[in-house]
Amino acid sequence: MDLDGPESFAEDAGDDSDELVEGEQPAEDRFYIDADWHERQGLSFNDVVQERMCPQCQLRVGEEVEERYPVVDRKTRRVTYELRRVQYGSRPVSIIRDCCARKSQFIVPDMPVLEVVFRILLANGNQPMPLEHIRDQLREWCPTGRCQWLLLPPETVRRIVENDQFYGLRRHEIPEAA
Ligand SMILES: [Zn+2]
Repeated sequence: MDLDGPESFAEDAGDDSDELVEGEQPAEDRFYIDADWHERQGLSFNDVVQERMCPQCQLRVGEEVEERYPVVDRKTRRVTYELRRVQYGSRPVSIIRDCCARKSQFIVPDMPVLEVVFRILLANGNQPMPLEHIRDQLREWCPTGRCQWLLLPPETVRRIVENDQFYGLRRHEIPEAA
């Protein structure tokens, strides 16, 4: 193999910026969990999320804990931390992100597709994510690659997510630039 020929170097240096015109491809759809949807269904989003916490965390729900939170001094702009008492589990998404999603039972092969998509979003603090990234993360939960939700073609997963009626999964609408 001759890799150091002058031709290949010239090719690399070539300006190929006009091959990918920005804005030509449709923006990547991102999905998130719409907490308001749950409330509109008469469900408590916090309850729904707490059900996905690990057994240890579920036992602690309602326990009073101290939480450190940052306070910025308006004059000096210095950040100090103050303590406040909160109920454990009152912000379940961050508990799942920081604890439960790191445990091996958080996602198991026999869970339905929508359940695992829901859990991956929770594990990421419900940041809107493209389905491809969700799939990448699901791969880490299924080393054999033979879990039902990995075997489905991406278009099928997309259709299932778009037709969801139980998890409040929504496409993230990016506000039009004014
Ligand atoms: Zn936990």
